[in-house]
Formats: sequence, C-alpha cells, structure tokens
Amino acid sequence: MIYFDCASTIAPYPEALQTFVKVSTEDFANASSNHALGYASDTLLEKARAQVARYFGVKADEVIFDSGASEGNNLAIKGVAYHNRSWGKKLITTQAEHPSVLQVFHELEKEGFQVIYLSYDKEGNLDFDTLEKELDPSTSLVSVMKVNNEVGYVFDTERIHRLIQEKRLRTLLHVDATQAVGKMPLDPSGYDLLTFSGHKIGSVKGSGALIKKESVQLDPQILGGSQENGFRAGTSTVPEDAALATALRLTMNSMPERIENARKLNAALRKGLAEIGEVEILTPENGSPFVLNFALHKHKGSVVAEALSNAGVYVSTKSACSAREPGKSYVLSHAGYSDDIASNAIRLSFSGTEDLSEAASFLSTLNDVLSSLKER
Ligand code: PMP
Repeated sequence: MIYFDCASTIAPYPEALQTFVKVSTEDFANASSNHALGYASDTLLEKARAQVARYFGVKADEVIFDSGASEGNNLAIKGVAYHNRSWGKKLITTQAEHPSVLQVFHELEKEGFQVIYLSYDKEGNLDFDTLEKELDPSTSLVSVMKVNNEVGYVFDTERIHRLIQEKRLRTLLHVDATQAVGKMPLDPSGYDLLTFSGHKIGSVKGSGALIKKESVQLDPQILGGSQENGFRAGTSTVPEDAALATALRLTMNSMPERIENARKLNAALRKGLAEIGEVEILTPENGSPFVLNFALHKHKGSVVAEALSNAGVYVSTKSACSAREPGKSYVLSHAGYSDDIASNAIRLSFSGTEDLSEAASFLSTLNDVLSSLKER
C-alpha cells in the first residue's frame, strides 16, 4: 500500500499508543480527585503539559489540552471575539482556512461581527495591501493558517505579527498550525494563539492543544469544571494528553530528517508527474514539501483517486473534511483556478517517513490507472 494522505491523518506512533494504554490502565483516576490516585494522574497531566510547552518554547500554563484543531479553532476564535466584543467588532481571516475556522467566522458575522476574508494568489501570497488597510484599532483578531491543508500554501504569519506590532494594535494573531506542527519550525514569538491536532503528528485521535499566551484573555466555550485553567471544562483527558506529549517528542526529534525526506519525495514526484504530461502542479515550489496537489487535464480527480484506491494507493481529492461533499475546492477556486481544475485536483500528502521508492511506485501505478481509464 502507498499512503499519501497524511494531511488527513496518520497512524499513531506505537510509543504514543503504549503511553495511552499505560496511562488509561494504570493512572485512570480523575486528575481532579482529592486522593492519592487523583494526585498521581494530575502529576502525569502536568508532566505532559510541561513537555508540550517545551516543544513549543512556551510556558506550561500556556498549553490548553483539547480534542484537536476543530475545537481549538472554535475556542480561539469565539473566545477572543466574544471577550473583546465591546471594542473589537472587526475580525480578519483568509479565504483558504479550514471549515473549522470559516464556519465560526460565518456564525460570528450573523452575530454582528465584521469579517474580512483575505485573498491570495496561486503562489500562496496573501493580500497584504488589504490586510494593511483593514487592520485598525477595532480589529480584535486575525486568524490565518500557517500551512494550507489542501494546496500546501505557507502563509507568512510572521509578517502579519510584525505588522500588528508595528501598528501598535492590541489585535491578537491566531495561527491554525495543524499542518505545520512537526513539519516546520514555529517561532513562539510569532503568534498569540496556535492550534494543532494530535492525530496528524502520530498521537491518538481526539488529542490536541491550543497554545494561548499568558496575556491573552479568552471566553471559555465549554463551561463546567475548572479543568485546563477554566478554559476547557470536562474531566481531564490524561491518556490523550500524555500520548500527545509522546508523539510530539517523536515528531519534533525526527523533524529535520522528515523535512529532508519529504523534499526529496516531493521533488521526485514533481519530476515524474511532469513527465506524464497533461498534469498541472498546483502546489507552488515554495509550498510545504509535505503536500503536493495537482490536476490531470484529461481526467476527473475523483475517478483517478478511486482507481488509485482500488490499486492500494491512498490519496485525497480535497481535504478529508470536505472530501465527500461534491463540487470544487474553494481553496483552489479562490486562488484563481478554473472550475475544471478546482473540481479535479488530487492531493498527495506525506509524513516524511516514506521510502523514496514510493515515488516510483506511485508514478507507475498512476500511469497504469491513466492508461486503463483511456482504454475505457
Ligand atoms: N485545520 C486544518 C488546517 C486541518 O487540516 C484540519 C484537519 N483536516 C483541522 C483544522 C481540523 O482538525 P481536526 O479534524 O483534527 O479537528
């Protein structure tokens, strides 16, 4: 099998699973309980928090454990917007965000917030002119993803952060780093809030964290107990959080080699795809090496993806979250691609642990699939 769908999810590291099972079995007590077993669970929880914090270069109490990026995005965006609604009715984001960001902004618009959706070009350059014009003292939040999950655009969030500082605004910057954590270095001084999901980096599904800088004020979105410093009520998920810390250690320690490997794999695939012909590569050269999106001019993406799947090669047409909805990719449409291309793109995404021989196997299977489709 060839699994080129790592932006959707990856299998957990065996070590992360072991951590999950061990903590679930041996330290099952409620981390808030006032007895020795509860204290032991709480110690593990705080150890996991300190480890996660270390890998991000932040303080332990800046880590809010949650169930993943959808929850983190909801909490960060609604939390900041509601907290600052008295003065900050303007919010800025991009047209390329994940649905867990866009849907939240659509809801906030219905509640009277003004939302500016920044455009971008085919190279992944954001419209900084509009950003510069719109960023003003009524802007409470800018939310921009670091790496786009469908096309692999790398957005210049550091420049956004600098711009906010230059303008001396109290605007906060939230970065959805779901496709960036473990795949590129992330400077902790370049954002105020950052979300990611554990299952994309080899932890178990339903794990993740929101990094929230100490000075950031936020309205919690799940009310109840005082877990996670009152920002996320509910019995602490110690096994998930411990597994997340394990996965983060493994993904961060292997990052340089995986980046190098993803670059080589990506380059080999780009070269091979160009040789097949009638292919348009949609991920820009300066995009994330972990994503390669392309369209085949003479074939429907969904048909090719299904034929590849039947041959044991797993890819996506759009992001998994919208893959089963018919129609075109809004990320590609907004970049300026035709409906034909935006409806027929194929996304390959990698973990960086692939064997380089998988590029040749993929290309040969794709060639076979295309020949058989032509014969039909
Ligand atoms: N943001 C981005 C950029 C993503 O790629 C994803 C997952 N596809 C999410 C948010 C949501 O993550 P999850 O489904 O783990 O909540």
